[in-house]
Amino acid sequence: MAFKLLLQRSNTKPFVPYPFEGQRIDCPVCGGKGHNIMNLDREWKPLSTDLCESCGLFFTNPMPTDDELKDYYRATYRAAYMGVVDTVPAQHVAKKKKDAARRAAIVRSLFRDPTGRRTLDFGCGLGELVLAIETLGFDAYGFEPGEVWSQHARSAKIKQGDWQSANYGVKSFDFISIIHVLEHLRAPLDCLAKIEQLLKDDGLLWIEVPDMQAYESKNYTRFHFAHVLGFSRDNLLAAAWTAGFYPVRTVTKEEIGKMRSQVSFVFRKRKADDVLDLNLAAVASRNRKDYGRKSLVASVIGAASGFMQHFRSATPRSRSSKPPRITDSSVP
Ligand SMILES: [Zn+2]
Repeated sequence: MAFKLLLQRSNTKPFVPYPFEGQRIDCPVCGGKGHNIMNLDREWKPLSTDLCESCGLFFTNPMPTDDELKDYYRATYRAAYMGVVDTVPAQHVAKKKKDAARRAAIVRSLFRDPTGRRTLDFGCGLGELVLAIETLGFDAYGFEPGEVWSQHARSAKIKQGDWQSANYGVKSFDFISIIHVLEHLRAPLDCLAKIEQLLKDDGLLWIEVPDMQAYESKNYTRFHFAHVLGFSRDNLLAAAWTAGFYPVRTVTKEEIGKMRSQVSFVFRKRKADDVLDLNLAAVASRNRKDYGRKSLVASVIGAASGFMQHFRSATPRSRSSKPPRITDSSVP
């Protein structure tokens, strides 16, 4: 209990370090060497972030251990994000429901007939996507580590637990989604390998993560304890490729009603003759250039403008009337 209180309190105070020790690691996507690029996070707390010199991935280093991450999610995560511990804010539920309806329509478009198709939402939050997909005729499942969150939908098909203990049959799913989850995990390749096992040979996988290049202000405000990884397009594709996946469809921000681009792709299992052209050196160089040269003053100005933008965009979806802009045409 004392530890829980310590976690909660220290996470709301600037300059007080997060209570974790972590371990020094190399890049968890490509094994490359990390180079320190940032030592502050958006809560004005010390947090050391490396940029991989080989693939341009951002990763917290020292990286929290599995146990330290579990403690954080158990005691702090929802509180730090929403000021709640044991309840789910109604406003959040409504927003998630709307978001899920859009996403479920995309899942539906991937299959001619949903009947008998088994789907799994990996890290399903409130279960809103599981329910929305089920409504469309799929046999939908999900799991979520958060206790309150995982019980919200009151569905027997939504389990509570972390991905390491997720227990389903090998090659038992036609579709798996992992939406804004991978950036929270210290071992993304292990997680994707598990997904590869669970997915049928002709199954599809939807991965979405925040795009570290999509922000106007590229500075310390993009870093916080929960996101231990920061992806860009090509290093996410590299991670998926390494785990045995090949991209077949790009999901645009207009389709999912987001103001900013996400790295969002649907994958199938990789075949022997698949080829994927990635320029990881260019990602590393661009991320170093964009994130590595900010003075603190510039960072604070960036943070203020980010705050104003957040404030002005209370209903971003209803105002997103910009014409669709295709940002990526190189993926089939
Ligand atoms: Zn790397």
